[in-house]
Amino acid sequence: MSEASQKATYTTTNAGIPVESDEHSLTVGADGPILLQDAYLIEKMAQFNRERVPERVVHAKGSGAYGTFEVTNDVSQFTKADVFQPGKRTEMLARFSTVAGEMGSPDTWRDPRGFALKFYTEHGNYDLVGNNTPVFFVRDTIKFQDFIRSQKRRPDSGLRDNDMQWDFWTLSPESAHQVTWLMGDRGIPKTWRHMNGYGSHTYMWVNGAGEKFWVKYHFKTDQGIDFLTQADADAMAGCDTDYHRRDLFESIKSGNAPTWTLKVQVMPFEDAPDYRFNPFDLTKVWPHSDYPLIDVGRMTLDKNPDDHFVHIEQASFEPSNMVPGIGPSPDKMLLGRLFSYPDTHRYRIGPNYMQLPPNRPRSPVNSYAKDGPMRYEPSAVSAPYAPNSKGGPAADTARYGEPAGWQTAAGEMVREAYTLHRDDDDWGQAGTMVRQVLNDEQRARLVDNVVGHLAQGVSAPVLDRALQYWRNIDQATGDRIAAKAKPA
Ligand code: NDP
Repeated sequence: MSEASQKATYTTTNAGIPVESDEHSLTVGADGPILLQDAYLIEKMAQFNRERVPERVVHAKGSGAYGTFEVTNDVSQFTKADVFQPGKRTEMLARFSTVAGEMGSPDTWRDPRGFALKFYTEHGNYDLVGNNTPVFFVRDTIKFQDFIRSQKRRPDSGLRDNDMQWDFWTLSPESAHQVTWLMGDRGIPKTWRHMNGYGSHTYMWVNGAGEKFWVKYHFKTDQGIDFLTQADADAMAGCDTDYHRRDLFESIKSGNAPTWTLKVQVMPFEDAPDYRFNPFDLTKVWPHSDYPLIDVGRMTLDKNPDDHFVHIEQASFEPSNMVPGIGPSPDKMLLGRLFSYPDTHRYRIGPNYMQLPPNRPRSPVNSYAKDGPMRYEPSAVSAPYAPNSKGGPAADTARYGEPAGWQTAAGEMVREAYTLHRDDDDWGQAGTMVRQVLNDEQRARLVDNVVGHLAQGVSAPVLDRALQYWRNIDQATGDRIAAKAKPA
């Protein structure tokens, strides 16, 4: 019998010491008090008390799987990123989630879904932390915390409150596009396999010649888009709160690996200032007719985690993980997220979260970081400072430094909204969706979903503002909602 299998035959403490019993505490006589010297019992109790890490403030309920991303088209004229080079296959991790619900909340609540991806590239981890929607509720990161609080629970009753949600939305008209999307069919995907993922933000791509482009990512589900009606989702919330988690796990387990096709929209760098919409505004899409979709590759999820906590709960995605060939845009939501994600991981998991299995790069780590709680990988550097004369790593600026001026910024420090481009407003793209993208049945369900949502605790003056909000999006749809929500 091998050493490993022999070990598996008896229980040990966390220190590997064989334990005396799985059944009985150490007591003074069978009926006497428990002894403090029962170190195994104390270890069990103490470990149990510390089993949870703080749940994510947003995207708390989710799950995911490992897989592969394979490039099927040549987009090397737009980016030198190793993960997008022709024929490349890169191992990856995906996590899907709801946004507002807590760790035990139902998977089928109406909410955007997180679509977080981590690619283990040759140049370190590339994280693309998107949603199943191409837009978002706010466009400046200073409003994000307020927005989330309006979707979470009241301080007095501990209840979620639709009045709070519509209060915030109607006072933040930039939310109209995302709210329209949310109240439509895609607000409750049938499963995670049946939804698209979007990078949502605009990013920069840089090719081998140093030329720059703006890019938006679209992961189109190969399973087809499908949704749950509000009634079906409500029923499911009562009988299987883990419906989406179960579906993904069981599909992969049965060999039915879901796939998504990555397409991108590419905007020449010079187009941005004069484009009809502000291309960095997260409440807007780039119409496909302006910037058509270009194929890039396929993502396949085929490996379930063998330990949900280790691989999914501790998975830490951060948009700041950008690899050579990919950079940020001046999107004010993206720039805030570059700070907030790694900050939350340091709090939630600990400063050495990058050493854990789902987060550990599969490429060399030659960092000068040292020490801190739970650090277990020995430092790869011979002297803990740079520069040093002890053979330590030095930044390879010639290979990895971006050219001077690859991004520029100049101007006075101000607190102002984005400069409006010629077709920019808060209602236009939402109205286009209602009038031109949705068919009659989809519009009817949108109206009923909004009416049902407003019926749960939304009253004047918020209700009146909500009805006007919908009339601003589309007069006819607003009138239909008003007729049902507030009959004359
Ligand atoms: P298109 O007709 O080229 O694209 C419309 C897109 O809307 C479709 O390709 C599809 O995106 C998406 N869509 C289809 N049905 C629904 C639905 N029930 N709920 C939400 N989205 C749906 O027109 P444009 O590119 O000019 O965009 C028109 C409007 O479509 C936009 O104002 C926006 O509201 C919406 N939209 C646009 C997207 C874009 O990136 N251009 C992406 C998603 C929505 P997909 O193929 O990604 O599923």
